Amino acid sequence: MGNIIESAVSLRLHVARIPDTLFVVDETRCFGCAACIALCPVDALILDDLLVVVDEPTCTHCELCIPSCPVFALSLEKD
Ligand code: SF4
Ligand code: SF4
Repeated sequence: MGNIIESAVSLRLHVARIPDTLFVVDETRCFGCAACIALCPVDALILDDLLVVVDEPTCTHCELCIPSCPVFALSLEKD
């Protein structure tokens, strides 16, 4: 079962970034709980003064972190 999950994650990480799309943190919602940070496999999320900031060029748009946010602050949006 673990192998299936790891394979799915690996596959997701190698999907090309969606064109004209940006990974966005809603600063009005984020309260710095850091739940999303531990899930990012490429360390694209950084906690800065109780606000998560994304290193957008590093983010692969894999969406792994998005469901972890309790206040729905993470999303992929049209550029
Ligand atoms: S979408 Fe994927 S790569 Fe981007 S910040 Fe979230 S977990 Fe990291
Ligand atoms: S999970 Fe949501 S509220 Fe918590 S740090 Fe990440 S973006 Fe902010």
